[in-house]
Amino acid sequence: MSDAKIIDGKAFAAKLRGDIAAEVAKIKDAHGITPGLAVILVGEDPASQVYVRNKGKQTLECGMNSYEHKLSADTSQEELLALIAKLNADPNVHGILCQLPVPKHIDDQAILAAIDPAKDVDGFHVVNAGALATGGEGFAPCTPYGCLMLLKDTLGDLSGMRAVVVGRSNIVGKPMAQLLLKESCTVTIAHSRTRDLPEEVRRADIVVAAVGRPNMIKGDWIAPGATVIDVGINRVEGAEGKMKLVGDVEFETASKVAGAITPVPGGVGPMTIACLLNNTLISACRANGLAVPNLGFDS
Ligand code: NAP
Repeated sequence: MSDAKIIDGKAFAAKLRGDIAAEVAKIKDAHGITPGLAVILVGEDPASQVYVRNKGKQTLECGMNSYEHKLSADTSQEELLALIAKLNADPNVHGILCQLPVPKHIDDQAILAAIDPAKDVDGFHVVNAGALATGGEGFAPCTPYGCLMLLKDTLGDLSGMRAVVVGRSNIVGKPMAQLLLKESCTVTIAHSRTRDLPEEVRRADIVVAAVGRPNMIKGDWIAPGATVIDVGINRVEGAEGKMKLVGDVEFETASKVAGAITPVPGGVGPMTIACLLNNTLISACRANGLAVPNLGFDS
């Protein structure tokens, strides 16, 4: 068996951001509209600070407006809700996201519920989760949406394929399963109580791993030729005590068996922000009655 094709999410995301920038320039020119994304960060969690900085940078690079709201860790839930109400009402803001996790004294579900579903570009509001489940118009969560783009770019039509999604979180596993079902895959959702995980994975043409356990899925679990999307981001100690990132799939063994596989880093990771910007563009188009471009699926 030859080595798997490496799915280059970094390059795909860069192209998607370029396509978004071109669309943004077009609607600015033709209609004087600049899509705007508001990002709220409460507290000083170092990883969240990095994410927010990258989101802001890439938003500006696409020609959109970026509104960053950095609040102190002792911000009350009422203050946060008041800011969200203000952003909901602001016509220049097309996307709103509150970086999770929020400090413990704030109820994250109350925060997600307060964001106008039409501006919920993270796709975490129950209205958007419901729309995804029932085929309505909404926003799909960015990470699984990015995984779907990579899958369709690699495989084309997914109809009839057997897909196993390992993980059932609201932000990755469940929406990923819904997206695959919409593509007419036969979908299995596996989780920590699944009885024989290797056997479930072995049956799949498509494996999406979203667990958060380094190298858990081994090469001999993968069906020869299957496509593997590794969402996991795990920090482990590498050679000479240096920290490195690995996925949920043991890349070394899996890449010898799979037909195609995403690396970590450089696979799914870069797709998330690109899809966030895509959702913000979609939101701006919807808010202004403009045709919504179908970026990410047109290559
Ligand atoms: P999560 O909320 O912790 O969910 C993990 C899921 O894995 C749960 O459904 C859990 O099952 C399941 N699981 C745990 N141990 C298992 C086992 N031994 N066998 C089978 N299933 C098991 O995690 P998440 O937020 O979905 O994130 C998953 C991974 O993706 C993490 O590494 C995260 O860092 C990464 N991630 C990456 C991106 C990105 O690339 N941009 C975005 C989001 C997340 P139960 O439900 O039964 O507990």
